[in-house]
Amino acid sequence: MNKYLSRVYESVKARDKFEPEFLQAVNEVFESLSDYVDEHPEIEANAIMERIVEPERSVEFRVTWVDDNGVAHVNRGYRIQFNSAIGPYKGGLRFHPSVNKSIIKFLGFEQIFKNSLTGLSMGGGKGGSDFDPKGKSDNEIMRFCQNFMLELNRHIGENVDVPAGDIGVGGREIGYLFGAYKKYKDSYDAGVLTGKGLEYGGSLARKEATGFGLCYFVSKMLEKMANDSFKGKDVVISGSGNVALYACKKAYELGGKVIAMSDSNGYVYNPKGINFDLMRGLKEDKRARISEYAKQDKDAKYFEGSKGVWSIKCDIALPCATQNEIDLDIAKVLVANGVKAVGEGANMPCTMDATNFFIANKILYAPAKAANAGGVMVSGLEMAQNASRLSWTFEEVDNYLHKQMEAICVKVFDIASSYNDPFNSVKGANIAGFEKVAKAMIAQGIL
Ligand code: NDP
Repeated sequence: MNKYLSRVYESVKARDKFEPEFLQAVNEVFESLSDYVDEHPEIEANAIMERIVEPERSVEFRVTWVDDNGVAHVNRGYRIQFNSAIGPYKGGLRFHPSVNKSIIKFLGFEQIFKNSLTGLSMGGGKGGSDFDPKGKSDNEIMRFCQNFMLELNRHIGENVDVPAGDIGVGGREIGYLFGAYKKYKDSYDAGVLTGKGLEYGGSLARKEATGFGLCYFVSKMLEKMANDSFKGKDVVISGSGNVALYACKKAYELGGKVIAMSDSNGYVYNPKGINFDLMRGLKEDKRARISEYAKQDKDAKYFEGSKGVWSIKCDIALPCATQNEIDLDIAKVLVANGVKAVGEGANMPCTMDATNFFIANKILYAPAKAANAGGVMVSGLEMAQNASRLSWTFEEVDNYLHKQMEAICVKVFDIASSYNDPFNSVKGANIAGFEKVAKAMIAQGIL
């Protein structure tokens, strides 16, 4: 890290010392921008790094809601509006008991560069709550969403800040949030949230976008860097939520075989291949635990403990659950088992040690901010459809996604090669995402 970046990083460390995930995300970006910042003195002259690590606005609020037994509960809500240099803030909402300010800040920070990589006009933001949707009734979820929006509605808008889903926030939650927003504002601002149902302004292929986009990226990476493909490959996917399910579907369509998937309790393994339709029905329609899958697929076995999924030998690993699920020890197991490609569907699923180990061992590595950008890309298309009051076909959206994910992949690896570091996709992605934002910030003056 060069002197300027080190100085700024030290000040972030001192100021945000209790935010480990945020520091991890900043450290990764700073490490990979060193050469670029050396070549561009205007970055320091305009205090770009000092500004980019500080959210433009950060809101923290109380959410009170009443459960089905009439008992009141209090959760904490967040919306962090990180950077609006290239467009309105854009990023998902996460509802999970682990949510805190550090996690929302790391996600919001990453979102700045990811959104820039999509080529669309979207700034970076993120939000959520430590509310746990698991085991709650639909009515409890609805009341929580309405009370969350009671505060959030003051801070968002079609041209201000456009939230979407993330862990624990899917179509059901977006529906309740949108209904509440409309009621509070008395205005049908369709583009204020993305991931909406198709009946009220949602986009075809949004649900599939992150998982499909991940596979398009990995497929292009295999082709470009190794003249290879998904065909005949064993694929292991962590998670069984939105991203994991549609990564599974597309991996099959591209010729791979998905042999294991997980949830936060355990994983299922079927060497003959996971049955996508059975898995989707259980997880998406019934919200069942993954252990149920093994009861209905006679060739599958269930194992307790989610991390064990990475002990299974595979050619392609797609972590699609949560941050820091692959540490150095797991990375060593994957490499020893002959993994050829790792594609991050989740945000920051690999620790920095694990990432560096993959790159040092010339494993094809698709970093989250590039590889999972398909979700927000199609959210951008949903906003465009809402603004024009038109609906695109599934094929139109999917073709756009496919082409653009391949273009991002090529850009990332071309930049890495231009620095004589062809496998360093982290550097490629960070420079590609950063450049446009930095130029826009400079053009708009020091604010
Ligand atoms: P979902 O809530 O739909 O699914 C999350 C999955 O990950 C579930 O299977 C869940 O298991 C598992 N999981 C969550 N926390 C843990 C944990 N601590 N340990 C092990 N497993 C865990 O979320 P998404 O699929 O939407 O999101 C998954 C990841 O992808 C997140 O990192 C998210 O930020 C990222 N992402 C999502 C995008 C989107 O469009 N949805 C876009 C870009 C990135 P369980 O059910 O047991 O909790």
